[in-house]
Amino acid sequence: FSKIKEGLAKTRDAFMGKVESIISFGRKIDEEFYEELEEALIMADVGVNTVMEIMDELRSEVKKRKLTQAEELRPVLQEKLAELMGTEQEGLKMAPDGQLTVILFVGVNGVGKTTTIGKLAHRFKSEGKKVILAAGDTFRAGAIEQLEVWGERAGVDVIKQSAGSDPAAVIYDGLAAARARKADVLLCDTAGRLQNKSNLMDELNKVYRVIKREVPDAPHEVLLVLDATTGQNALQQAKLFGASAGVTGIVLTKLDGTAKGGIVIAIRKELELPVKFVGLGEKMDDLQPFAPQEFVSALFT
Ligand code: GDP
Repeated sequence: FSKIKEGLAKTRDAFMGKVESIISFGRKIDEEFYEELEEALIMADVGVNTVMEIMDELRSEVKKRKLTQAEELRPVLQEKLAELMGTEQEGLKMAPDGQLTVILFVGVNGVGKTTTIGKLAHRFKSEGKKVILAAGDTFRAGAIEQLEVWGERAGVDVIKQSAGSDPAAVIYDGLAAARARKADVLLCDTAGRLQNKSNLMDELNKVYRVIKREVPDAPHEVLLVLDATTGQNALQQAKLFGASAGVTGIVLTKLDGTAKGGIVIAIRKELELPVKFVGLGEKMDDLQPFAPQEFVSALFT
């Protein structure tokens, strides 16, 4: 919990700092108060639709409970956010013990995809699982080498071909190696260039089909990696990928470096995709399973 709290420090300062100053002692609830609170939530990247919904609910609670003082709204706001985030913490879907779990990572360049794969490899390895990485981003210069660096750090094998080769062929090799070496988990990197979207989506589809053909119940997860510092842009990316790549969950990176952590709320609400992990730094250990209620508590304490 303290790690989440630490990672959310900037978001908490920006988000709760502003909200706190509005929900201050002695202030009356009036139209001006509502407007300021609404603006503070929007500035924290909670997302306009979600903010509208929260504001509506706050107004009706104020009526119902006959509240008049701004500070009485603090616990109500926390309650509403907690409700919105839901209680369940969604772990990764895994193959039954003894069978191969295949996880596909998608997302645009620079969001932290390679780093996340490295961190997750480390996490699985420390649970005693045998992990293999497949270097499916054959497009971006340096992507293969970067994955190899993470492979070395985490102490796991990386399957690769030369730059520019067919990503589906690399993933095929990865699947073959994973089976031959009796691996538990295969983590597949993919390209993230956005300049020609349809090509990228075709490429991802081909990778997806190869995995499906080889291992019928795979991929077990398609994780879309999003960069929290990009705020509302991250939502746009999610809509783009979600539609065509069969995304099953989100990894939200760089929460440590941003005041835009409110984006977690927008993702939960507007995408209906679970946030499975959050990135809280650049090191191997800086990946945490996402627990919605911890997130809300961390914002308010
Ligand atoms: P990719 O292009 O999506 O594979 O992105 P990379 O994995 O290369 O990451 C891009 C940059 O973001 C690197 O400098 C990483 O160290 C950094 N990064 C990734 N995840 C996090 C995170 O959770 N927190 C912080 N502060 N930096 C991160």
